[in-house]
Amino acid sequence: MIHCGIDIGHAAGTGARCGRYDEHELNVQLAGVIAGKLRARGLRVTVYDFPAVDNRTDLNRTVGAVNADGVDFLISLHSDCCQRVVGYELAYDEFGEQYERPVLEADPRARGAHVIYTSAAGCKLARCIARYLVALLPGRADSTVQRKGLAILSRTKCVAVLGENGFVTSPEDMEIVTERMEEMADAYVNGILDYLLP
Ligand SMILES: [Zn+2]
Repeated sequence: MIHCGIDIGHAAGTGARCGRYDEHELNVQLAGVIAGKLRARGLRVTVYDFPAVDNRTDLNRTVGAVNADGVDFLISLHSDCCQRVVGYELAYDEFGEQYERPVLEADPRARGAHVIYTSAAGCKLARCIARYLVALLPGRADSTVQRKGLAILSRTKCVAVLGENGFVTSPEDMEIVTERMEEMADAYVNGILDYLLP
């Protein structure tokens, strides 16, 4: 039986957040819907989530568990965040020296999903998923991106991709993610099934 791992990015409360939208919370919901749909298609699914620890421990435990379980492939679920500098305010550093601290505000203009990969095999899975996911959540310049420095992709032995499921700072993205979560999950499921086709 094909074994799919789903990693919920970050520990609880440590990911991107804007207003009522929380990266970990959104992806807990999305992972549940994806897992149900994949199981209905006959796949074995393990969801990896260590919400009560810090971010680094979450990552280390996830990598260890994924490698120990020997899953066939892993999808790591995340959300993006975009902020802009809107001004500066006077603040004091730890030595009592005054400095100008940038004031950040959510930037609602950045939007869209993309899928990140490291290896050539990951590239194939990323493209399969992005084809559906980016149609639902457009806006990024590239639908897939290769990045070498992400531990969840480079330290796991299986084929692994990281999906950025829109920006928590974009009201348009968040409307799609929260109100059309079934379609979001279908994007992953259809992409995974395409990838598995012989
Ligand atoms: Zn993230």
